[in-house]
Amino acid sequence: MSTNTPAADGLHALFGGTFDPIHYGHLRPVEALAREVGLNQVTLLPNHVPPHRPQPEANARQRLKMVELAIAGNPLFAVDDRELHRTTPSYTVETLEAIRQQRGPTQPLAFIIGQDSLLSLHKWQRWQDLLSLCHLLVLARPGYNDRMETPALQRWLDTHRVSAPTALRSRPHGSLYLADTPLLEISATEIRERRHQGVSCDDLLPRSVQGYIELQGLYR
Ligand code: ATP
Repeated sequence: MSTNTPAADGLHALFGGTFDPIHYGHLRPVEALAREVGLNQVTLLPNHVPPHRPQPEANARQRLKMVELAIAGNPLFAVDDRELHRTTPSYTVETLEAIRQQRGPTQPLAFIIGQDSLLSLHKWQRWQDLLSLCHLLVLARPGYNDRMETPALQRWLDTHRVSAPTALRSRPHGSLYLADTPLLEISATEIRERRHQGVSCDDLLPRSVQGYIELQGLYR
């Protein structure tokens, strides 16, 4: 469950991911986003990966531990492990519905995704319902263009996009904001591949997470 309760008057964001492992490409852009739009807390939501999809190399407990180590001592971040307790696929829209129920309808709430996730958002379960539950904040990510994969997704983006962060506070949900966050060319895939090849991952992820990966013999 969440380790911190966000202040009721600030903008709170959730950030879902496989985090196999969590790295600076997650943490640094989100910290910059928090400054850019004024987030008072970001709750990381490690995903339960359904059995029919490619499985993470680290198990759920290890992925959660790496997230906890990465955010230790950083008051911006909290972690919510609710999706890891599920035995059925966890869809973001359902998690957001549950969180909305807990928080009530009026508190602004945001969900963070990377630009690569935005381009294929139409593949997410009930993607058009997402903005009835939260705002979407999109992190810039190198190597991805800004062409949505379908015209319907492009129209949806054009309809809901806002250019000023103030729009995120004036209502509880419904806006899509493309952030001007730093471009970090880091992926979990690259980290796993480097480990497989015995190449150093220094500078790509926190030392505490690297130490845990070593200790657990992950990504060999
Ligand atoms: P993998 O390489 O295993 O696919 P990943 O590095 O993309 O993993 P995820 O845990 O799948 O990491 O990503 C969680 C979220 O973080 C996604 O919305 C993704 O778009 C975003 N993200 C990941 N890396 C970056 C990055 N370097 N810059 C911006 N966003 C990122």
